[in-house]
Amino acid sequence: MILIIEDEVQVRRLLRRSLEALGHAVSEAEDARSGRQAILHLRPDVILLDLGLPDEDGQDLIRSIREWCEIPIIVLSARDQETEKVQALESGADDYLTKPFSPIELSARIKVALRHAARTGTTGEPVYEVEGLTVDLAARRVTLDGADVHLTPIEFKLLSTMIRHRGKVLTHNQLIRDVWGRHAPDGNQGLRIHTQHIREKLGDDPLSPRFIFTEPGIGYRFAAGGGEA
Ligand code: CA
Repeated sequence: MILIIEDEVQVRRLLRRSLEALGHAVSEAEDARSGRQAILHLRPDVILLDLGLPDEDGQDLIRSIREWCEIPIIVLSARDQETEKVQALESGADDYLTKPFSPIELSARIKVALRHAARTGTTGEPVYEVEGLTVDLAARRVTLDGADVHLTPIEFKLLSTMIRHRGKVLTHNQLIRDVWGRHAPDGNQGLRIHTQHIREKLGDDPLSPRFIFTEPGIGYRFAAGGGEA
């Protein structure tokens, strides 16, 4: 079941129609207060959250939801503002959609979110297999279409972080924190260079990516791909 938290009736109606056409059950809440109630009582699989709610700041709502549950949150952003999206992702949102969005886009994001939700709580995935790329976390081995790919330890860490969260946008800060911790000497510049090296080694064209997609001004998204090995 998908919960829509959005104060605009027209948007809710449009979302409901698109989601039901895709075979999803849908519930609606028109403000943060009733949204919280709905999450508690209905335990939705995915939350679609409008950031501009009448009774509470959407960013605060994300943080408070994250204190007690891991249900995937896809933010609906009316404003095409990078800072707002970055903030939402760092508050704990899983993804975002900028209004107006197409039903195809909506459907794709929901699928990824549901797949993430299904993975949560499963045992570790030592081997990832995405689009011909295999990453064995335990053996620290990477192969592409059967051939070994040699990565530096930092590149391996960066790639495994991206692939572990594949399909989800990771902000520059989230990646830097995950890979370098608090001591990130080169910040965004270092991140960009190491990402470029990984792309070169994987033969991934940034303009027409197979694996690593750039989210301008926000971060990176690894291809959602198929199942895991
Ligand atoms: Ca609104």
